[in-house]
Amino acid sequence: MGHRLTSGWGLYPTVTAHVHTARLPVHLKQLLAAGGTWLPQGNCRSYGDGCLAPQVVSMLALNHLLDFDPSRGTVRAQAGITLDDLLRFLVPRGWFLPVTPGTKFPTLGGCLAADVHGKNHHLDGTLRNFVEQLDMVLADGSEISCSPQDHPDLFRATLGGMGLTGIIYAATLRLRRIESAFIDMRSVRTGSLAEAVQVFSETHANYPYSVAWIDCLARGRQLGRAIVMLGDHAAPASDQPDRELTVHRSGSVSVPFFLPGPTLNRWTVKAFNTLYYHRQWRRDVRTRVHYDPFFYPLDAIGNWNRIYGRKGFLQYQFVIPFNNGMEVMTDILERIAARGAASFLAVLKTMGPQDGLLAFPMPGYTLALDIRRSDDSIIPFLRELNETVIAAGGRNYLAKDAIMPRDQFERMYPGLEEFRRIKRTVDPEGRFKSTQSARLGLS
Ligand SMILES: Cc1cc2nc3c(=O)[nH]c(=O)nc-3n(C[C@H](O)[C@H](O)[C@H](O)COP(=O)(O)OP(=O)(O)OC[C@H]3O[C@@H](n4cnc5c(N)ncnc54)[C@H](O)[C@@H]3O)c2cc1C
Repeated sequence: MGHRLTSGWGLYPTVTAHVHTARLPVHLKQLLAAGGTWLPQGNCRSYGDGCLAPQVVSMLALNHLLDFDPSRGTVRAQAGITLDDLLRFLVPRGWFLPVTPGTKFPTLGGCLAADVHGKNHHLDGTLRNFVEQLDMVLADGSEISCSPQDHPDLFRATLGGMGLTGIIYAATLRLRRIESAFIDMRSVRTGSLAEAVQVFSETHANYPYSVAWIDCLARGRQLGRAIVMLGDHAAPASDQPDRELTVHRSGSVSVPFFLPGPTLNRWTVKAFNTLYYHRQWRRDVRTRVHYDPFFYPLDAIGNWNRIYGRKGFLQYQFVIPFNNGMEVMTDILERIAARGAASFLAVLKTMGPQDGLLAFPMPGYTLALDIRRSDDSIIPFLRELNETVIAAGGRNYLAKDAIMPRDQFERMYPGLEEFRRIKRTVDPEGRFKSTQSARLGLS
């Protein structure tokens, strides 16, 4: 057991926590038998306080692969395994994750608890659509396996349930077959938000993966100018599988210390964004790239969260329905640009239909922006933006949230009452609790 200062990836807020590392599955039961409130913790790649609590059980040492069935295309693994390690095993064998977030460092358990979405959400939905079974330890120490058929309520509430229904000890996933580790990528430079959205709608049926990097400091007619990236798994370019199914390399350059706060300001960020936007001269470029830079570009720089300085940053991610989404996104981008809330490129994506009680996605547009926390005046500003998101019928993503007040959360998530009902059944004493769940009235 250790006592340490913990934070999510945004470095805000921080919580001093007792961190207990479970090394054997039986430890989970022992910890629960000792009493008190708990939170399972993965690799703290959620940005806010969803992974924080005064007493956490780290799952990182429960990281073993338990079974792989190539005839069915499934893998069963302990929840503390990282996507990084899963890919190292799967890719050389011709398999890939069915859904992946934009970093390979989260754990499997963390991805299930946040029910992550990837660049293929518009076609494939979230990770839940590929889960066959969850093996869990509940608040009373009992073990239970759930699936869409067995204990479906628990299954529904746990995926996206942010660790509040019990500890996922292991999970079985259906995988995606690949013939090469490469992606046929097309990137299209667009002059405005409307043009980026147009590219999405024209190409969606043809590309399983799509995302746009927006220059959210460009204003006026250039507001929302973007590079739209589309992709699909490439066919092999040679008949030598060894050369085609190459796994990503380890190691990266790393930010060795916290940069002083003023290093990032509206001018430096603007310069970066402009350079990024102009790195592509032709409007429409087609290339073949490895999956690593395509899915995980930020992983190339270790500890990149330190560039925001010691005060950290907030990632603001919302989704809004398609109907008046363009006007709402334009309004929000204009307000962010006017405030000079220095953000590097923002990520825009379209989302498809989604099941789940605390599911974030809905058919519409999602935008994610990093905002430096120079001081706390940014918090009321973001809560004002939340009101615009709510009025448009949208919501914020729990895996990124550190500041949402309870009343806004309750107006965003229609499945909340059903989630609370199931939580009361499986955790009547409210033993699974995070800093976030206490703030949002979820535990
Ligand atoms: C650069 C970057 C890019 C990202 N891109 C995306 C993206 O494209 N799409 C997306 O959806 N997310 C994205 N994320 C967010 C990230 O995928 C999620 O926050 C994920 O939950 C992090 O997993 P973790 O293992 O670090 O879990 P943590 O951050 O430690 O915990 C997250 C939640 O999972 C719960 N949890 C962890 N392990 C277990 C377990 N074994 N049993 C039960 N509950 C558990 C915790 O209690 C907590 O509520 C991104 C994050 C970063 C840093």
